[in-house]
Order: sequence, then structure tokens, then C-alpha cells
Amino acid sequence: MITRLLIANRGEIACRIIRTAQALGIHTIAVYSQADTHAQHVLLADEAWFIGESAVNQSYLCSDKIIAVARAANADAVHPGYGFLSENADFARTCAEHKIIFVGPDEYALRSMGSKSQAKTIMHQAQVPLVPGYHGDEQAPALLQAEADKIGYPVILKASAGGGGKGMRIVNIASEFSAALDAAQREAMASFADAHMLVEKYIAQPRHIEVQIFCDRHGNGVYLFDRDCSVQRRHQKIVEEAPAPGLSDALRQKMGIAAVNAALAIDYVGAGTVEFLLDSNEQFYFMEMNTRLQVEHPVTEMITNEDLVAWQLAVANHDVLPKSQAQLTCTGHAIEVRVYAENPNDNFLPATGMLQAYQPPESNTDVRVDSGVIQGDEIGIYYDPMFAKLICKGRHRQEALQRCQQALQQFFIAGVTTNLGFLQVILSHPAFVRGQVSTHFIADYYAELLPQQFAPPPQVIVGLAALILHTQKTMHQANSTIPANWRANLSHTRLMQMHLCADADVTFSASVSRRLDLPNSQKNDKDGCQYTIVHEHHSHHVELEATAQPYHYMTTINHQRTPIYACEFSCHHWAILYAGQQYSIKLVQPDLGEHSSSQDHAFVAPMNGTVVHIPITPPCHIQKGDTVMVIEAMKMEHNIVAPCSGEITEVFYQTGALVSGGVTVVNFVAEDDI
Ligand code: ADP
Repeated sequence: MITRLLIANRGEIACRIIRTAQALGIHTIAVYSQADTHAQHVLLADEAWFIGESAVNQSYLCSDKIIAVARAANADAVHPGYGFLSENADFARTCAEHKIIFVGPDEYALRSMGSKSQAKTIMHQAQVPLVPGYHGDEQAPALLQAEADKIGYPVILKASAGGGGKGMRIVNIASEFSAALDAAQREAMASFADAHMLVEKYIAQPRHIEVQIFCDRHGNGVYLFDRDCSVQRRHQKIVEEAPAPGLSDALRQKMGIAAVNAALAIDYVGAGTVEFLLDSNEQFYFMEMNTRLQVEHPVTEMITNEDLVAWQLAVANHDVLPKSQAQLTCTGHAIEVRVYAENPNDNFLPATGMLQAYQPPESNTDVRVDSGVIQGDEIGIYYDPMFAKLICKGRHRQEALQRCQQALQQFFIAGVTTNLGFLQVILSHPAFVRGQVSTHFIADYYAELLPQQFAPPPQVIVGLAALILHTQKTMHQANSTIPANWRANLSHTRLMQMHLCADADVTFSASVSRRLDLPNSQKNDKDGCQYTIVHEHHSHHVELEATAQPYHYMTTINHQRTPIYACEFSCHHWAILYAGQQYSIKLVQPDLGEHSSSQDHAFVAPMNGTVVHIPITPPCHIQKGDTVMVIEAMKMEHNIVAPCSGEITEVFYQTGALVSGGVTVVNFVAEDDI
């Protein structure tokens, strides 16, 4: 019986495994690298052990360090998650040698499915349909070319040891074969130190359909239905759904049975995924078997109402499968989208930075967010840029899709560039809405799928203008002495200039002037504030209310109530989510008001950082040049110093707090104004 489980992974999957294990009363042990010292999986686990530097080959890939921790912490089992050591046969063997349960299949299954050629040979013997092709040992170029000629072009060359699309080449005509073989072998040698190739018929416009299987140690095997993972970019899945849309029951059952046969052929134990290509004639072909829990397993959990990690732990405990095939049901439809820190408008370059704002949509039985981060966490350079998954369920595909679209519109992230906009565009693309996807979907519609930056509607501009004034006022009102640059109840005009910062540097500018109407002495609501904002010769009445959620406000603009998310994630740089659209807006000249003075911009955090020292205790008098706060950012300390003498009446942050670049950190009244 597993009582102490080590999770040899990080991020969202480590958190997800810990939650189920804890719910089952199992003591959880996390491991972490330098970069993950404050990561969520470390905080969530019952105990956590440091295993090394941030680079994966110094930490999460070091099987010896993980085994050493497992022994020292008295773990009786190790769950490898996905990636890292999850499909490493040597690691599974070492666990067994140390009498530690590896939550996954045995060494033999890992080894045989790790080689595409060996996997195909085994599947052929088990009568699982294969793509017509050659997967033998003979590797003479002339023989491989003869095999390709026999199969008929186009063909695909694949590295037997391959993964992640590396060492793969499509060959359209015989005369291109030789050069493509050279290139594929070179890439395979460089990536896997193994140039062994297989040749397959290249299926035109296939769908990627995979079947979730489970086997126990008592000879039972079941399938938990199928998933469509055709929406891929460079062989990287982005959107997955279950069940695969448009499959007939007969085909679904045939694929399920073929997948279970594939698993039984290698005495498989635990969770596995059998991947197929499905052509336009409903012919399916075995592609490969993944011998672990998949990233996309939650869609299967949604439609079966089962917890696959609980199943894995049951099988690892030598229990029989929790359900038989006849007891398993498929209800409704589920869609998952993967949230990546990357910039779709810059060729999907991975992005890093601090999640200044991280407000996922609210979870419920139909909306699930699996993530390994919270607001304030850092997305670093060391690990996979996927940091969250959104999974939505509906009674049918249309409902699941609608829910997913809506949830995406409520997902607010600031400080790190993400693919949220790209996901929104995919989910509303007519071909996707119709369920007509193939593995070429992204390539076919690439130009249409890149998120566009639109000029923000007036509501966004006037809402933000009001919010900026509101933020300044809230800070200044924190003290009874109203500073010189804030004359409550006086009506005057200020000018704000904004710049829309599209990721691709498309720009838009607007000028905003406002007449200050408030604070309204009649109104006692602390959090409500009313402003009149003039934008492009139109006057807008804006009312703002803060909500319990950070960065979330209710705006009433000309009597229309709409929620808005707004976060100043770096100096004068705002991320806004309004009516489902995200905007990035820079305040070019934040305040050209007649009352502005040099003090307005003093006492401002120079960049995002952590408060490490506050040498003053308000209320106190300070001299020009005195340090009022020390902030640490990017491993360096920055002093915030007084530009002139005066009175500090309040400090808005405490030691240890995170501050955003550009925010005012203290309330200050200059000597002249006292
Ligand atoms: P890897 O292990 O490198 O990810 P796979 O064998 O799983 O490689 O294939 C990855 C992707 O390549 C598939 O999802 C599919 O899009 C495409 N692919 C693979 N084999 C074929 C084929 N015979 N015909 C058409 N597309 C293929």
C-alpha cells in the first residue's frame, strides 16, 4: 500500500498529482530545483526536498538524486508525471531495484514502446493496423529508397528513437528521397545519437486520434474512450478534446479494442495512450504508444468522471481496475487548451517574466484550471513554457466550446506574454467550430489564426483613464492631508495620452482629457468613484467599483456595466481585459496636468521587485536624498530616495511584498505643501 509518494516532477502536473494523492490520504514528497524554491508544487506537498540547480540535467532529470531523496524520505512510490523521467526504462528499473514502486509500466514496456521500430513490430504481431511502411533493421540507403518506391509517394521518414517531431522528413517524390534521408539521419544522430530510420506512407490530412487505456496486474485492460489532438503546432498539441468529434460508435469501439490489444500485447500495466492517425476513409493506423499519463488526460476525466491519477495509484498498489469496460461511460464533451508563455506574434518565441496578474476563470464542475502557478510567480527560462491548462465540459461539443470560449475571455494574465489570444482565435475559427480539423489545421489557417490587435473601444480608454485617476486618488486619500497635486472637488482638466502596444508594435494613440467631478461628497461608498472623461470630443460618465478580486473592477460607462481587469505590469504599461479582449496600453505622458510637479513621479518603484528594506517608520520627516525603501529586482538592490524634504505619512507596502514597476510606494507631502 502506497503511503508516501514522491512526485518526480514540477509545475501543473506535480500539483495535480499531489492533490489526488492527498485526497487519498497519501503523504506527498516534492522535489525541487533552485528556480522552483517557491513553486506551488513545493508549497502544496507535505514535504519538499532540494535536488539541485535549475537546469533540468542538474535536477529533474537526475535519477540518482531523485532515488536518493526517495530513500532518505522513506517514499514507497515515485510518480514521474509526464516528460522528465516518465518514460525512462532505466529509471523504472532503478526504482524496482530499490524496492520503490514506479507509478507506471514495467521496464520492458517502456523500452519496447520507446523505439518506434520495435513498437511497430510488436503491434504488427498483435494485429494492430499500421501505416504501410518499412520498420526493419536493414538501413542501406538503396534498400530504404526501394521500400519508399514500393510504398508510393509521399512517404515520411522517421527516426526510430525519435520524439517531438525531430528526425522526421516528408518526401514527395523519389528524386528527393536521398537528400531527405541524409537530413533526417543527421538530425536523428544529433538529437538521439541513433540514425535508425523507418519509412511510412504519408497520410494526407490525417486526424490525430488517441485512445486512453488502462491495464492492471491481473490481466484486465480497458479503454477510457478517445481524444482528438489534431490541433498541433510543430507536432506540439495545443487543443485537445474528448470524445473525438464525428466518430461513429462502431469506429470508436474498433479503435478502443485495437488500443487495448496493443497494450495487452506487451503485458502493459497502468495508464497508457495509443496514438493513431485516422485518414479521410475512416482507416486508422497505429502511430505510437505513450507509456505515461498525458498532458491532455483531464478531458478524459471530464467525460468519464474518473480520476486517472487515482486509477494509476490503484494499479500501482496491485488493485484490480476500479471499473470494467461495461461500467465505464462517456458523458458529454470536454475541450482542453494549453496556456503557453510565448508570443504568437513573434514566431511563438517563449516568454518569461513575473505573473503580475494571474486571474484564471472561476472553476466549477464544468470549468477546470490545472496550473502550477499563482499571481506573483516567475515564468523562467528553464522549463516548458506551458504553465496552465483550461478544461471545459458541456453536455455536447457546442456547449463545451462555448464554455471554453467564455472562460478564455475571463482569463486575465499580465506581466508575461501568453498564447491566450491565439487560443481564442482557434476556438472561434469556423473549421474548428465545425469540428473539421486535421493535423494541418494550424499550418493551413496560419495567417488567420494569429491574434490581431484592435484599437481599443472608447470604453477601454475612458475606463483606464478613470482607473488611473482612481488609483492615484485612493493612494492620496489614504492620508487625510491631501497633497498639492490633488484638489478634491475642484473641476479642472488633465490630458492623458495613451499608446496601444500591440505585440507586433502596431500602435494607436489617443488623448484623453477629464474633468474631475469627485470625490462626490454625497456618496459614501469608499470603493465607488465617478469621473467624467472626455475622449475624442465625447464626454463619458464613468463609475468604478473595486471588487474582491485583485485588478478587477466593475465599470459603469454611460450606464452600461461591464467588468474590467486592469494591471499596471511595468512602468506606465497596463494590461487590460475588457469584454473578452486583452489590450496592452502604455501611458505615454501619464499626467500633463497643471498641478503636476516633479514630486509626482518620485517614490515610484523603478521596476518589478520585492521590498527588502524600509528604513523609515511613518509618520516621519525626511530630508532630500534619504532612502525610503530598498527594492530587490533581478538580483540587485535599488534604493528609492526622496527628491526633496517633506513628510512621509504612509508606506503602502511591507517588507517582503512584491511591487510593480511604476507604482508609488509611499504617501509623501513635500515641505512646501505642508
Ligand atoms: P513524435 O514521436 O516525434 O512526436 P509521431 O510519430 O508521434 O512523432 O508523429 C508526430 C506527428 O507527425 C503526428 O501527430 C502527425 O501529425 C505526423 N505524422 C506522423 N506520421 C505520419 C504519417 N505516416 N502520415 C502523416 N502524418 C504523420
